[in-house]
Amino acid sequence: GQSYLEVKDLTVSFPTADGLVGAVQGLSYSLPLGRTLAVVGESGSGKSVSSMAIMGLHDPRSTRMTGSITVGGEEIVGMTPTELRKRRGANAAMIFQDPQSSLHPYFTVGDQIIEAYRAHHRVSKRVARDRAVDMLGRVGIPNPRRRLDDYPHQFSGGMRQRAMIAMALVNDPKLLIADEPTTALDVTVQAQILDLIMELQQDFGSAVLFITHDLGVVAEIADDVLVMYGGRGVEYGRAESILGQPLHPYTWGLLESIPAVSGEPARLHPIPGTPPSLLALPSGCSFHPRCEFAGRVPGAACSVDLPDLVSRTEDTTRTSRCHLADPAGIFATDILPRLP
Ligand code: SF4
Ligand code: MG
Repeated sequence: GQSYLEVKDLTVSFPTADGLVGAVQGLSYSLPLGRTLAVVGESGSGKSVSSMAIMGLHDPRSTRMTGSITVGGEEIVGMTPTELRKRRGANAAMIFQDPQSSLHPYFTVGDQIIEAYRAHHRVSKRVARDRAVDMLGRVGIPNPRRRLDDYPHQFSGGMRQRAMIAMALVNDPKLLIADEPTTALDVTVQAQILDLIMELQQDFGSAVLFITHDLGVVAEIADDVLVMYGGRGVEYGRAESILGQPLHPYTWGLLESIPAVSGEPARLHPIPGTPPSLLALPSGCSFHPRCEFAGRVPGAACSVDLPDLVSRTEDTTRTSRCHLADPAGIFATDILPRLP
């Protein structure tokens, strides 16, 4: 059947004075209820842009979108600003790295959660207040009834993050999008917030889209992983499969930069070069200027031909956008034994 979130051949671009920025190009994936998909990539890979589009948080005047995004069967692409505003926060909610982007400093935490609830429920202020107390309790804020009347600055960083999650979940969203929600937090609080998100997901049975560049976090929470590079999906599969047996050279590079247990980054072989400009993507495989295998794949012209995102393994859900993944390539070379 259809997954709760379906993204099909999505293209997102922004016309600028310097030209058309192709932020997302031909992106497709699906996410069923009850599962967590981690979207992984460097900044400028299109991971945030595509999630903003799913949430309807893009500016329809400056954004061009083609393809399809359905949330619970409802098409987002082509919605008017009014329609986008009306449905925002009803079926899908988003949490960010910075709670300030959701929590307004001039209003109490309670009032903001109450308003978020009443935007989608015709209930009295009293009923909404009880709901807000309940939500703050569920995300582990002590004395929630008293803390309701505090302003965001009276909360610690971790508590603000919890309050933002309470606000995001107040309408029981079936889809939760988390964009690097724990990046700014210390390791202990980060672990608590991840546990909380997983626990709430179990309770609500929601689909979770988790955007991160931290593969330690991916190992912790993800069922499935989508690796993005230069606005495109380059590798997709079950988390244990991606982390245990990555197929794409970009993913190999990412995995070599997993932070060590101490939290210190342990980059053994950093990926050379920088992410491509979305104004002028390299020809062929966008990764070719940084790839040590470019030009060494028999029968493939990496700098000319864009590889398709296809499955060439027994696991058909496992896909990779690399000429190397072609058995004619990968088994005919001496590259395999060199994999990490
Ligand atoms: Fe490297 Fe070629 Fe694969 Fe691109 S298609 S990742 S350049 S081997
Ligand atoms: Mg981002």
